[in-house]
Amino acid sequence: MNVLLVTHHACLGHSNADDHPECPDRLRAVLRALEAEEFALLLREEAPEATEEQLLRVHRPEHVGAVLGIRPPEGEWVMLDAETGMAAGSADAALRAAGAGIAAVDAVCRGEVKRAFCAVRPPGHHAEPDRPMGFCLFSNAAIAARHAIAAHRMRRVAILDFDVHHGNGTQAAVERDPAILFASSHQWPCYPGTGHERERGVGNIHNATLPPGAEPGLFREAWRDILLPAVEEFVPELIIISAGFDAHARDPLAQLRLREADFAWLTERICDLADRICGGRVVSTLEGGYDLPALASSAAAHVRALMNG
Ligand SMILES: [Zn+2]
Repeated sequence: MNVLLVTHHACLGHSNADDHPECPDRLRAVLRALEAEEFALLLREEAPEATEEQLLRVHRPEHVGAVLGIRPPEGEWVMLDAETGMAAGSADAALRAAGAGIAAVDAVCRGEVKRAFCAVRPPGHHAEPDRPMGFCLFSNAAIAARHAIAAHRMRRVAILDFDVHHGNGTQAAVERDPAILFASSHQWPCYPGTGHERERGVGNIHNATLPPGAEPGLFREAWRDILLPAVEEFVPELIIISAGFDAHARDPLAQLRLREADFAWLTERICDLADRICGGRVVSTLEGGYDLPALASSAAAHVRALMNG
């Protein structure tokens, strides 16, 4: 089945700092993996820039203005917090990363493709409505969800986040919005410190915590027994995935024990569910993943499952 790959070379122009784990080589590794023969049938599209109107559906005007206004000279950085920086190309990369989700939602909601994957950076799920955070500038998944509702009259959208870190930014953006469900599995304790099971929003937030060292069985159980049933009960019209691959056993930033097969397993389950309840519509956007070979092979396993599922 045709799957759309949305990306933009501007996403390579962003860097947080010298020698930072969220680096341009991450995206290069993913794109190189997707050049393999088995991915020749992917449709490919360049990400547009998100518009201010689209960003403002999630972020405060002061936040959007501040991020877009920071353009340091080549070779210099402006640090926004201890771990999030902006370089000369960062504002453009952030606009394309958010815009990729918009283009993917448009293609999927118009029925041009059933699934889409956005190979982008900076990632988005830590960016809160009023501040950048944790390598993230704009909340790419939440912006895509609001776009589906505003531009395509979707009544319910689910965001599923399997990055090893809790998507505090996505949760903050949607926790009072009954039209959007947020379901996340993540290591606990771990950065950013949010994502306890008690955090329920208006009943639309579903967090599943996993202890450091957790094996794949616990991860699969959390999705099979808790998170996917909650998504099914919500009956979304579109599923958006925050696809972070830093729960991989080789990832240097966290301590879960997943392998490529686990990302493929969950992607297949999500596609099965989407086929049953929402016309198969799935949009996925890249979040974390900091061991380059593990990131590349995990993203490839994810996209393979989107194509085969
Ligand atoms: Zn992460």
